[in-house]
Amino acid sequence: MPSHDEEDKPCRACNDFKTWSKKQSKTKKEIPAPQTNAPSTEQEKRKDCPLDKDELGTSTWGFLHSMASYYPEKPSTSQAKDMDNFFKLFGEFYPCEPCAIDFREDIKAHPPKTKSRDELAKWLCERHNTVNKKLGKPVFDCSKVHERWRDGWPDGSCD
Ligand code: FAD
Repeated sequence: MPSHDEEDKPCRACNDFKTWSKKQSKTKKEIPAPQTNAPSTEQEKRKDCPLDKDELGTSTWGFLHSMASYYPEKPSTSQAKDMDNFFKLFGEFYPCEPCAIDFREDIKAHPPKTKSRDELAKWLCERHNTVNKKLGKPVFDCSKVHERWRDGWPDGSCD
């Protein structure tokens, strides 16, 4: 059961910063401006604020794709089972609830492929592409997933 404060506050991890900021200004109690050197404009926004939906999404994809690209090439039965469980639990607790609901539906239709590194990385790339399509973002070429997340591009531009 959310506390009164949680009910009043818009979910930052479910909205991009602009949308959250608009919703927040509607619910925010009037507090007098602080007499400090606190940043006053968005440009000066401090770096240690809670993540919005897009910041959380980008960081999370970075972690998930890196994890998949470093997953064992030949995982043990128990590693494969653990990875399968990881994605199920991830879908339960991902802090952007609308994102998590769709992700749970998607992995119900497309269960994690955990028998090898290549299978897992391709499966995850396809899940990310499902979200990309929903948001009107470009689809990523999944044959390049290890170059993006582990090896770097063949032209050496990441070395
Ligand atoms: P991101 O999509 O965050 O991608 C980061 C980088 O990953 C890109 O720059 C690119 O180099 C690389 N990349 C892109 N596609 C792929 C791919 N298919 N495989 C491998 N690498 C790739 N936002 C919503 O508004 N609604 C949602 O329902 C939603 N669901 C989400 C579900 C999950 C599980 C996660 C982790 C995030 C979700 N998001 C959702 C956030 C959204 O996916 C983006 O993270 C956010 O919009 C920021 O996008 P971005 O342009 O920074 O790039």
